[in-house]
Amino acid sequence: MDFDLTAEQLSLQKAAIDFARAELSSDMIRRDAERAFSHDGWKKCAAFGVHGLPIPEEFGGSGSDPVTTVAVMEGLGYGSPDQGLLFSINAHMWTNSIPLLIYGTAEQKQKYLPGLCDGSLIGANGASEPNAGSDVFSMRTRVTKSGNEYILDGTKTFVTNAPVADLFAVYGTLDPKLGATGICGFIIEKGTPGLSVGKKMDKMGLRTSPMAELVLENCRVPAAALLGREGRGAEVFSCSMGWERACILATCVGTMRRQLERCIDYARTRKQFGQPIGKFQSVANRIVDMKLRYETARLMIYKVGWLMQKNKSADMDAAMIKLYVSEAFVKSCLDAVQIHGGSGFMTELEFERELRDSVGSTLYSGTTEIQRNIIARGLRI
Ligand SMILES: Cc1cc2nc3c(=O)[nH]c(=O)nc-3n(C[C@H](O)[C@H](O)[C@H](O)COP(=O)(O)OP(=O)(O)OC[C@H]3O[C@@H](n4cnc5c(N)ncnc54)[C@H](O)[C@@H]3O)c2cc1C
Repeated sequence: MDFDLTAEQLSLQKAAIDFARAELSSDMIRRDAERAFSHDGWKKCAAFGVHGLPIPEEFGGSGSDPVTTVAVMEGLGYGSPDQGLLFSINAHMWTNSIPLLIYGTAEQKQKYLPGLCDGSLIGANGASEPNAGSDVFSMRTRVTKSGNEYILDGTKTFVTNAPVADLFAVYGTLDPKLGATGICGFIIEKGTPGLSVGKKMDKMGLRTSPMAELVLENCRVPAAALLGREGRGAEVFSCSMGWERACILATCVGTMRRQLERCIDYARTRKQFGQPIGKFQSVANRIVDMKLRYETARLMIYKVGWLMQKNKSADMDAAMIKLYVSEAFVKSCLDAVQIHGGSGFMTELEFERELRDSVGSTLYSGTTEIQRNIIARGLRI
């Protein structure tokens, strides 16, 4: 068993860290307060090659394998404090580019993947509804077939990137009574009559990642907009969630590493009672726990990357990563605040924002409870 990244992967990760520090780090406190999405950061990330990492070269990506993709994402999270921007990019990659790559028609791939890779298109995902969250396939957005067209009616909620998106992966049902077997996926362009971005949604964290409702009112789309086969949208959605759960927290693992290093520095230099606070066992123990969580999280995300690379089933491992890393991230953010005392609670040190950002990770892509259900099912309990 070889736990090393290759020289090429290490050099790409280092380049990602340097890039993120230089280009994605400025003015974070103000941008968080103003809920400012960075179009500039988005374009720079696309030019660096982030958006196209898992997409083959023929469609404008670099065709990187999952381990390399995870290594670059970890590097970005280590180098950049902009968890919101990185979250937006993740949402775009796993809910638009990947389902298009796997389920799209040749025409859809040619039409959309190059723009999704070069950053000229921003993707969003409309699955959740006010009354269909964890139980997403109980969605009510209605799909009616009319000749060679489909008509969509319904409201989607919590749609990451919606206020800035050009392309929407949208899921609806032919008949709510059919459950998962009635779901259809579509890829719909901004400006399509009947599709509008509704109320903007403000949130606790990830504030540089915009979010809104999506409204579909008599929204007519051609059959060519169908993503995957009619009635097989649940498969498309589940595939995108599998990739998302496996990869979306790599950036958080990078942030956990940065927090750990900052806490070690602080514990060595901050003195109370005549000695560095790290000499107090209760402070040192927090740092030891942060190190353990970081190392475990890192091993888990690379293991899933490796499983995906070998085309082995990774559903249960992806659920385990999603569950473990999100909860570990929240705990480590809390430890970082505590180790820094009153200063840790202040906006200036940026741990309070990271804590707010971290809470979202226990909710999006399926909550902690839903991941536990998936793991329990995998264990046939
Ligand atoms: C930051 C963020 C970004 C998001 N981005 C998107 C997006 O781009 N597109 C999109 O479609 N959605 C998005 N979502 C929505 C997200 O997928 C849902 O919030 C999530 O699936 C939970 O659904 P819900 O909020 O309706 O909670 P509910 O499903 O109502 O759950 C409420 C509580 O009950 C628990 N619960 C529910 N069912 C079970 C069960 N069977 N067993 C045990 N516990 C259960 C939940 O775990 C939770 O604690 C985003 C959410 C967040 C926070």
